[in-house]
Amino acid sequence: MIVAHPDDEVIGVGARLCTWRDVRLVYATNGAPRDMRDAYRVGLSSREAYATLRRAERERALRIAGVDPARVHELGFSDQETARELVDCAARVAVLLRGTRPRVVITHPYEGGHPDHDACAFAVSAAVAMLARDGVPAPTRLEMSSYHVAPNGISTGTFLPSETALTDDARLPLELRDRKRAMFACFGSQRQTLRYFDCAIEPLRIAPRYRFGTPPHDGVLFYENFDWGITGHEWRALARGAAHALGLSGQMA
Ligand SMILES: [Zn+2]
Repeated sequence: MIVAHPDDEVIGVGARLCTWRDVRLVYATNGAPRDMRDAYRVGLSSREAYATLRRAERERALRIAGVDPARVHELGFSDQETARELVDCAARVAVLLRGTRPRVVITHPYEGGHPDHDACAFAVSAAVAMLARDGVPAPTRLEMSSYHVAPNGISTGTFLPSETALTDDARLPLELRDRKRAMFACFGSQRQTLRYFDCAIEPLRIAPRYRFGTPPHDGVLFYENFDWGITGHEWRALARGAAHALGLSGQMA
């Protein structure tokens, strides 16, 4: 799995994590944005302290899931800034995929929810395309639900429409819902956000083929409602540049 922030793994597939063997988790960012609003909100005065808190929350949640800490990798990009490192991010994801040869890689959909989520979608698409170009067996790309804009604000537990279908019934058995709730409870710093997410479902689908140079949907993107460091227009310009630098413009831009 390749996710942007600590807590995205639990939002997407926290309950299922407990049932999978041989899972590896890769975090693109440390979860600590350069602007200090999130840190101040929980009474911390440094980015490092906030990043440390988020790492500790993640470790507690992954202990519930039974994930071995040795199977967790951090790419170390700054929260809200992964889009500015798309080439590096894709190259490092490609190295991890070559080294570990997973059958499946799960990440965020491209949906304008958070610029780092979209960056992960880009990096995984690009990395898989790079492996395929080199004749290396590439994993199947799956994606988990995250969040995107909706008429009433935010949509969670769903995807934007695409031609690909859900992989299975997304509804969780009751005991797994309890497990997911317990994992959510580990992320005290994210309590405000996590109340928008349902503990009963974890949809997964085959990732569509994305064109990252075009918007994921018409209108204002979810993250454009906030000051999260980038506009959709800027994000797409960076994606076009990165696709060009990686020799993937024809497939991805
Ligand atoms: Zn996230």
